[in-house]
Formats: sequence, C-alpha cells, structure tokens
Amino acid sequence: MSDLTRMTAAELAGTIAKGDASAEEVTRAHLDRITAVDGKVHAFLHVDADGAIDAARKVDAKRAAGQELGPLAGVPIAVKDVLTTRGVPTTAGSKILEGWRPPYDSTVVERLRDAGTVILGKTNMDEFAMGSSTEYSAYGPTNNPWDLGRIPGGSGGGSAAAVAAYEAPLAIGTDTGGSIRQPGAVTGTVGAKPTYGGTSRYGLIAFSSSLDTPGPCARTVLDAALLHEVMAGHDWRDSTSIPQPVPPVVEAARRGMSGDLTGVKLGLVTEFDAGEGAEPGVMAAFHDALAALTKLGAEIVEVSAPHFQYALPAYYLIAPSECSSNLARFDGVRFGLRVGDDGNRSLEEVMSLTREAGFGAEVKRRIMLGTYALSSGYYDAYYGQAQKVRTLITQDFNAAFEQVDVLVSPTTPFVAFPFGSRTSDPYQMYLADLFTIPTNLYGGPGISVPCGLSEGLPVGFQIMAPTMADDRMYRVAAALESAVGTLTPPSLEG
Ligand code: GLN
Repeated sequence: MSDLTRMTAAELAGTIAKGDASAEEVTRAHLDRITAVDGKVHAFLHVDADGAIDAARKVDAKRAAGQELGPLAGVPIAVKDVLTTRGVPTTAGSKILEGWRPPYDSTVVERLRDAGTVILGKTNMDEFAMGSSTEYSAYGPTNNPWDLGRIPGGSGGGSAAAVAAYEAPLAIGTDTGGSIRQPGAVTGTVGAKPTYGGTSRYGLIAFSSSLDTPGPCARTVLDAALLHEVMAGHDWRDSTSIPQPVPPVVEAARRGMSGDLTGVKLGLVTEFDAGEGAEPGVMAAFHDALAALTKLGAEIVEVSAPHFQYALPAYYLIAPSECSSNLARFDGVRFGLRVGDDGNRSLEEVMSLTREAGFGAEVKRRIMLGTYALSSGYYDAYYGQAQKVRTLITQDFNAAFEQVDVLVSPTTPFVAFPFGSRTSDPYQMYLADLFTIPTNLYGGPGISVPCGLSEGLPVGFQIMAPTMADDRMYRVAAALESAVGTLTPPSLEG
C-alpha cells in the first residue's frame, strides 16, 4: 500500500470508507511518522496516542456495523493548543497554563469528534497566539520542515509544520491577524481564515475576541474546504457566531479544480505594492501566479484601499487592548500555575508573582500596551481612534467588492526567516502580517495557497473575499492550485 501519510485527507477518507485501510492503520501510520520526525520538527506539544487509537477504533467499528461515515471519518488531525480538549493538556503555548487539563471540549473540537476525525494531539504555537514565528512559545520553537533553521510562521507554526511534515493531513489553526495564513505561506501549505463568526470561538482561549477565528490547515484546497465544512457553522454558545448556513466551500473548491475562472474579477490592491512591500522573490512568484490565473480566464482589476496602510498600527492597538482584558483571568487562582502561595502572602502578591513567572516577554509587552491604550484619558486617542480606522478599512473592503469578486496579494512580505533574525525588534516581527491583518479587521475570509518558491522557500498567494462569501476564495484557490500544483518539502529522513 502507498504511504498513508502522503495521502490527502480526501484520499484517506475514501481509502477508509472502501476498507482498503482501517482508521486504526491510518492513525498508527501518522503516530509512527510523528515518532520518526517530530524530534526534528517539534510541531507537537502533546501527542495523545491512546485517545487517537480509541477514536480510530470507533470509526472502524461504525464502518463494520454498516453505519454511514462522514466525509472525514477516520482522518487524523492535529489541533492548535489554544483550543480546549477535555482531559487533554491545553497550554496556549504558555507556562501559566502548564498542566491544565480543561474540563470541556471547545465547539470546534466537539465537531471534529462528532465527524469522526482522529485527534492526534496538540500543536505548538506562540504564547497565547501572539507572534509570527513560534519563537514566543514557552516550550521552544517549531522548526520549518523546509529548512530546520528557519521559522514555520506563527502563531500556528506547529499546525502548519505538522501538515507540511506529513505528521497529519489536517490541522486546526486560529487566525487573529494572520496566524493560519502566514504559517501556511511559509511552510508551503494551505491555510484558511473563515469569515469571523463563521467558526465558533467557544473553548478557544481568547486573545483578541473581536478578531480570533478558528480555521483549517491542509495540504490541498479541497482538504481545507472539507475541514472547513466540518468545523464551521452556528453555535449558540458563542454570541458572535453567525446564525446562517456555512457557505458551500467544498462545492466551490471542486468547481475551482476544473481550472475555469472565466468572468472572475481579481482585485489587486495598489497600496500593497507601495511602501515597504514584499521581497522581490515573493513578488515574482506572486506575479507568475497572477499570470496563471489570467490564463484560466480571470480578469485583473486594480483597486485602491487607501486605509490598508493603517491596518498594522490599528491592529496593534485593538489586539493588545482586548488581550489585556482577556488575560486578566490568569490570576493564579483559577487555572494552571500558582507561584508564592506560602500561606503568608496576599492574593495580590500571589497574583503578581504568578503572572510575572507565567507570562513571557511578548505577552507582557502586549498587556502593558493594551492597558495603557484603554486607560482613561488615552482611550479616545488610541483605542477609539483605532476603532475608527477599523471602520475605514471595512469601507475600503466594501468599496473594493463592488468592483471585484475577490482581492489578491502575496500572503506575507517575506519567506521563512532564520531563527533569531526578528526577535530583537518587535516591529520587524509584526511586519509578517502586513498583508493579512486588513482581513481580520474587516471580518471577511482569507486563504493562503502555495504559489511557488523564492530562494528555495515557499511563497503564499492570498485570496480575500466578502464576509460569508468564503466559497468564492476556495474556488479561486482551487483553480490556482490546479494551475501551479502543490509543494513538497525536502525529505526529513537521514
Ligand atoms: N502575528 C500576529 C500577532 O502577533 C497575529 C497573531 C494571530 O493571528 N494569532 O498578533
């Protein structure tokens, strides 16, 4: 039998449904792969081998009993360690949650279980999803399977690397400013951020509640769409969840695979080309992909989005403000770590010793920034102003979508960078999300698809669509994939 770890999720589901391999065999193949390569990659913080085998056997029993299997039944999946998993350690990449075993499943995880996917374990990430490289994980970075001396992107670098390294065909990420799309881009995989509210935040450890969006990571567009459909949809437990049907993303991906984009208008944001822009190698791959899309019948239209240039500064006020409030719950009383509780210290002292020891430098930087931006006297000047900019960016998107079907850009300005090269200057790290952040502020969907190499490293192509038109971006993404193919990293063996 061909190597099960090289198959797509769609192929694996078909193989299991036909009985050519059992879900248990598929799961064991992936667990073996993790054992073989994760010492080098460090995509996982926790592998739940027993739980995975159990889940796989349930699928096999269901099949044996002649019951109907869902489209991803028996397919292994890795979950970013920011989503709660009942009884299974969940750290959000932070020391402050070391050893915490949540008493409940997040909605996304619950839906994965109901669909019969097999959860292999929890993946590494920047602490509380703040970062673009996984270098801010309290448990050490993840290494990019393309070059182990380089970052796999962040904050969801573990999920993207697990998929790129064939440790899992699918993974879950979360995207607040780019944390699904940017890791997808730099690892040569597909990463999609659904419309905000299209996937539930219940049980997602909050970073910035008005931006956080769970979404799929995969090696093909169709696989991402299949996972999207399984994990998305209204959830009464999340007040910002959209009470509407999931856009038909799988159908759209299949339609796109035919490679016909006749009549589809792609908007090229003129402002993205100005200013700091992207590396020449990234721009070259991006323009080659545009040419390929034109051959499929798409029309390129230049559109202006004059406020996109203010997205990064607005994001770095809104996200830290929300995180300063959200992270107040880590007080040494309710979850995980507690430091200095010797019976003589006050609650306040224990709280501050716990937070001092439990949070890393980037998290502290954001809490301080956010607390300052929200303080009375500065609120209007910083947080209030940033919210106004957010409205202007939304208006730019709305105006653009009157002229075009989707917007396109490179996903990231640069390819995977070497470890340590951007940690000394926070702004250099923040620039990784220059092209992804506008979408989060607007709330629409965005996807990154591999479109080629620059200096031997993957380049991502970003497609952004109107809110609840996630299917549109999948169609274009699948068409692009049909034209340029998927990317295969160098072997990790030997
Ligand atoms: N890199 C961005 C940040 O550090 C986005 C992170 C994310 O999407 N979770 O905030």
